[in-house]
Amino acid sequence: FEEKMAADGRSNLKIVEGDFGYVLEDVPHLSDYLPNLETYPNPLQNNPSYAVVKQYFVHNDDTVPQKIVIQKNSPRGTHFRRAGPRQKVYFQPDDVQACIVTCGGLCPGLNTVIREIVCGLNHMYGVDKVFGIVDGYKGFYARNTVDLTPKSVDDIHKRGGTVLGTSRGGHDTMKIVDSIQDRGIHQVYIIGGDGTQKGASLIFEEIQRRGLKVAVAGIPKTIDNDIAVIDKSFGFDTAVGEAQRAINAAHVEASSVENGIGVVKLMGRYSGFIAMYATLASRDVDCCLIPESPFYLEGKGGLYEYIEKRLKENGHMVLVVAEGAGQELIAESLRSMDHQDASGNKLLLDVGLWLSQKIKDHFTNSGRMQITLKYIDPTYMIRAIPSIASDNVYCTLLAHSAIHGAMAGYTGFTVGLVNGRHTYIPFYRVTETRNKVVITDRMWARLLSSTNQPSFLSAKDIEEAKRAENLQKWRSSSGKFTLDGHH
Ligand code: ATP
Ligand code: MG
Repeated sequence: FEEKMAADGRSNLKIVEGDFGYVLEDVPHLSDYLPNLETYPNPLQNNPSYAVVKQYFVHNDDTVPQKIVIQKNSPRGTHFRRAGPRQKVYFQPDDVQACIVTCGGLCPGLNTVIREIVCGLNHMYGVDKVFGIVDGYKGFYARNTVDLTPKSVDDIHKRGGTVLGTSRGGHDTMKIVDSIQDRGIHQVYIIGGDGTQKGASLIFEEIQRRGLKVAVAGIPKTIDNDIAVIDKSFGFDTAVGEAQRAINAAHVEASSVENGIGVVKLMGRYSGFIAMYATLASRDVDCCLIPESPFYLEGKGGLYEYIEKRLKENGHMVLVVAEGAGQELIAESLRSMDHQDASGNKLLLDVGLWLSQKIKDHFTNSGRMQITLKYIDPTYMIRAIPSIASDNVYCTLLAHSAIHGAMAGYTGFTVGLVNGRHTYIPFYRVTETRNKVVITDRMWARLLSSTNQPSFLSAKDIEEAKRAENLQKWRSSSGKFTLDGHH
């Protein structure tokens, strides 16, 4: 077992025996490479507000299972370390200097996370030296920092965007760690998407190599909800809610004319969660297209046929399309194009414009049927709004988890909700795979029955989807190897 773990580069998998034996997928701790570190009592022990809370401190052995539904004879499951305050901390709060950085695209809730890290550090632990790194990773070595105090961040959660600024590209691990070392930073809070978390992992490794007493904590950000392992990412509910306004507008436009079609493009480069949930929430959508579910235009069971049927039945229709949907179809029309952004992400071709043109060509321009199509792309309007109440609460808890973890000496971790409980998850676990809509799962079936759209799937497609799903389940069940020998 241990050889297999080492071959997989997962030395932090630990078997925990007992009646409910499990595998703990642990996160690194400063004491792993800095033995004999001094510990301090958690200052929260003296905080009268918390004295009334029964069991306020999380026991060091508490874990959270990744899978909550257990099938008979399934191998022992993976658990993650439960997040929360510990009795002992590894930093003397008066000494701590912490910094916060935001990278990648905008997402509602960024400012709330920043605010709550600053206020949480200050109010719970008495840490008052917190500053922001301006404009993403490159700000570590290229730009000035800003001091962050509870006063200066007081109302930033009411604003969209990130008060610290953000950027793509510019990750130079050595220069970043040099800057952390030179500035005497003890805790680094990194808020960003998959690319950012990969960068955070490199920063952690270099810090460990240099033997620095610096905790690195990631707060995963993705409006698409495509981060593996975790239940939901912050900003997602806000995005689904704001998407309703675009869908409503499309519905009003479409239903006000004869054969009106409203097309709304929503975010979702690789995962169609926003499109799926926005569709399920709205009930005005007749068809939802996502990257995970291939579709085709022409012929029997195709999109054109369905559109024509809906227009004849109902006089109008609303179509929601996730930005990553139908990329193979577009690529077929425009084979030569392949672009990347500054971080090396593949730039997708605009499916909304493409699909709108295709539909217009098929119906009106070919003289088949007179349609009126309105295309709405609310992407930047959605990304830029402040987070709604439920996301604000979630952001607060994520920020608190990150603070408690860093103070307790954990490092190289991201925070996340697993089965409704806050946990610490190793970086690689959230960056190596992506969370996707499983089209053979119940949720997608619910969507199909709510829109009544065709599945666009042949028997062969369904077989393939099932195979892919099984593979994904196998990968995410308990590491990349079997634990059968340890029943
Ligand atoms: P999103 O894609 O959701 O907007 P992201 O965090 O994935 O967020 P990116 O622009 O890909 O956004 O990356 C943000 C930062 O992380 C950039 O500064 C980039 O240089 C850095 N980064 C991206 N990928 C890596 C990587 N593999 N290793 C180190 N740094 C990376
Ligand atoms: Mg990314």
